[in-house]
Amino acid sequence: MDEFELVARYFDQPQAGRKGVTLGIGDDGAVLAHTPGTESVVVTDTLVCGTHFHKEHSAASIGHRALAVNLSDIAAMGASAEWATLNLTLPSFDESWIEQFAASLLALAGRYDVALVGGDTTRGPLSVTMTVGGRVNTGAALRRNGAQPGDSIYVSGLLGGAAAALERDDMRLEDALLDALWYPQPRLDLGVALVGLAHSAIDISDGLLSDLGHVLHASANLGADIDATRIPLYPQAERDLGHRRALELALGGGDDYELCFTVPTARRGSVSVLEEELTLPLTCIGEVTPSGACHVRYNGRILTEPELVPGYRHTWSR
Ligand code: ADP
Ligand code: MG
Repeated sequence: MDEFELVARYFDQPQAGRKGVTLGIGDDGAVLAHTPGTESVVVTDTLVCGTHFHKEHSAASIGHRALAVNLSDIAAMGASAEWATLNLTLPSFDESWIEQFAASLLALAGRYDVALVGGDTTRGPLSVTMTVGGRVNTGAALRRNGAQPGDSIYVSGLLGGAAAALERDDMRLEDALLDALWYPQPRLDLGVALVGLAHSAIDISDGLLSDLGHVLHASANLGADIDATRIPLYPQAERDLGHRRALELALGGGDDYELCFTVPTARRGSVSVLEEELTLPLTCIGEVTPSGACHVRYNGRILTEPELVPGYRHTWSR
């Protein structure tokens, strides 16, 4: 099977009905329509075997993940996703691997009406790069730099699941933690709904404290007061690793792909309504302060730096 057959068989989907796609896979380039009154949001991410996943990862989980991590960035911008490109480097043309990879990637694309409009296929060490385009009303994109003192800090979903699965190091256990690691769910509906509500947003890919730190830094070096007892943990992580370790991984682990956002206190009621509508936990974990430091309170005292992220192994190589 050559590159053309591979693309035609596994990646070329009917593009009809996809908003804005005039011409998809098959020509030298894709043609996308312009929508007046809107702006394009473009994100890209690369997954390299041995760094972002390892050889034991299933093809389906890699396909899902390659798109999911990009959709998570689109969500954090408050945009809706429209199109994607896929640059795939494969050590060999293993048909069953490609079939499962493509089916999983396209299933996620279909769920959010994202059209795969092009890409490139080469031979080499396994690596997947995707670029995703989204759209937002002009001037409405959510940014990292809009947080204000007094804002309530929220996170979506539960945190630390992927890091807990990785630390537990038992890929045979099929449960909520392994799902969190292998099939992160991009929060696109939440991102769109936060436009006009949140002052700032970011997706949590490197760990809550690190990513919240980016928001605070970008927002005129503000600080935060976090109540660690409010951080939503996976019950399974608490059972498998103990409460304290589950909390550490929720604060400092990575690969959550939940959203962290700040809203003015007066709008907290709207977040509660949204939580009901989306049936997704949206938890207030603290507030933005003018101080410039990020304090994490736990059982009546402020945790020190070494207590926050001890020994997290941020790697897939084993
Ligand atoms: P060119 O030689 O003009 O770059 P290619 O032969 O690389 O064209 O690709 C032919 C068509 O297939 C293009 O539309 C390209 O976008 C698409 N394509 C190639 N690889 C992939 C892939 N992995 N996923 C999606 N589309 C792809
Ligand atoms: Mg090409």
